Amino acid sequence: MKDIKRKTVADILRHGEELAGSEVDVKGWVRTRRGNKNVQFVALNDGSTINNLQIVFDLSAFSDEQLRSVTTGSSIHVQGLLVASQGKGQTVEVQARELQVYGTANPEKYPLQKKGHSLEFLREIAHLRPRTNTFGAVLRIRHALAFAIHKFFNDKGFYYFHTPLITASDCEGAGAQFQVTTLDLENLPKTEEGKTDYSADFFGKMASLTVSGQLEGELGATALGCIYTFGPTFRAENSNTPRHLSEFWMIEPEMAFYEIADNMDLAEEFIKYCINYALEHCADDIAFLAEHFDKELPERLRFVVENDFVRLPYTEGVRILEESGRKFEFPVYWGVDLASEHERYLVEEHFRKPVILTDYPKEIKAFYMKLNDDGKTVRAMDVLFPKIGEIIGGSQREEDLDKLQARIDELGLTGMEWYLDTRRFGSVPHSGFGLGFERLVLFVTGMQNIRDVIPFPRFPNNCEF
Ligand code: ATP
Ligand code: MN
Repeated sequence: MKDIKRKTVADILRHGEELAGSEVDVKGWVRTRRGNKNVQFVALNDGSTINNLQIVFDLSAFSDEQLRSVTTGSSIHVQGLLVASQGKGQTVEVQARELQVYGTANPEKYPLQKKGHSLEFLREIAHLRPRTNTFGAVLRIRHALAFAIHKFFNDKGFYYFHTPLITASDCEGAGAQFQVTTLDLENLPKTEEGKTDYSADFFGKMASLTVSGQLEGELGATALGCIYTFGPTFRAENSNTPRHLSEFWMIEPEMAFYEIADNMDLAEEFIKYCINYALEHCADDIAFLAEHFDKELPERLRFVVENDFVRLPYTEGVRILEESGRKFEFPVYWGVDLASEHERYLVEEHFRKPVILTDYPKEIKAFYMKLNDDGKTVRAMDVLFPKIGEIIGGSQREEDLDKLQARIDELGLTGMEWYLDTRRFGSVPHSGFGLGFERLVLFVTGMQNIRDVIPFPRFPNNCEF
């Protein structure tokens, strides 16, 4: 091999015209190989783009023996001349001069032989599915969205604030928690009353994985002004749905001095920014997913960024649902926690736009939400999206110590003194929300199942890889 600096497939295809006529060095995995006894064509992919680079092997220069292990899934290193392609489907191709095989992939054993494996099958081999076009596209989009999120908040002067993953409070009420313990489950230490003695546990008390970083986020916001979290979140809810994971990533901005309207403005601007970013930076991947899974995807994405979200009080939403004449699986009445079918009716059929539903009954929302003057509803806001239902849940927070304390007592929550200190000392109006990262990736990729937008999904009865 000559001393030529390696280029990625993305680089070569992007600068094909300038590079044509020069020698290139490229490395990657073989997607397919076809041809005849004079010439063999290899589609090479290195993960840098959905597009493959065509490598042409002239069989007068390479023997069958040399090419034997160049099969689907094998990894190779090629040097050759980049030339304008005569074939359809690519502008440039490499006329191979040197070949090195790094790793073979026995065609009898490599599971990703044919095109068009079902998503269910690929879920069973999640350790290999990043090598498919579909998951390559999804994972590049996922990366772009994560980057866009940091960029959006950084450009706005928000601070990335790290909240703990292990916590000793279960006050979010957002869902069942996974317990964290080093106790010997076969031989638990007992108190005199016969209960598990957590004082002997690692932290000296019961601890679990976080269901939300919000409460700690509020401590950040009431010091730094505007913060956001972006980290893993764990919920042991037994929701075997296409929209729930047991381990997912959540983005939770929290802003001092923001009231509910500011919070809604931010949520709308934020989510539009992320979708726009993906449209601009992931055009090839989105086009691939649209072609193979969801023809309406690009249109749906553009529709969301181009239209104002509807802002509607819960009470109005319930009235629309009641008057719709629609037979829902779950009954709808004032006070009910809306199901996904209700949310999607409002978004997909009634308004045909994303909807921000506000002012929910206090009974169905978390204790920290600011009570409205009616004494019945709280300043909550859920952002509802086509195909997804709830994508964001947020609220203005109760900043009044007495009202917050009363609600905490009513619900019998304990161990909240550290949180209440935000209201005791220099309390301010503040707001925030939580965006489920995978629900955003689901929306932008047009995939149907949340298990297909995270590399290694965790859900009930599944913790592989
Ligand atoms: P849902 O009613 O859909 O279960 P939630 O009301 O429990 O959602 P929140 O507690 O408000 O959700 O969490 C904020 C955001 O986190 C949600 O809007 C959603 O995007 C996301 N989310 C919540 N639970 C999950 C989950 N199990 N898997 C993936 N994302 C989730
Ligand atoms: Mn939930």
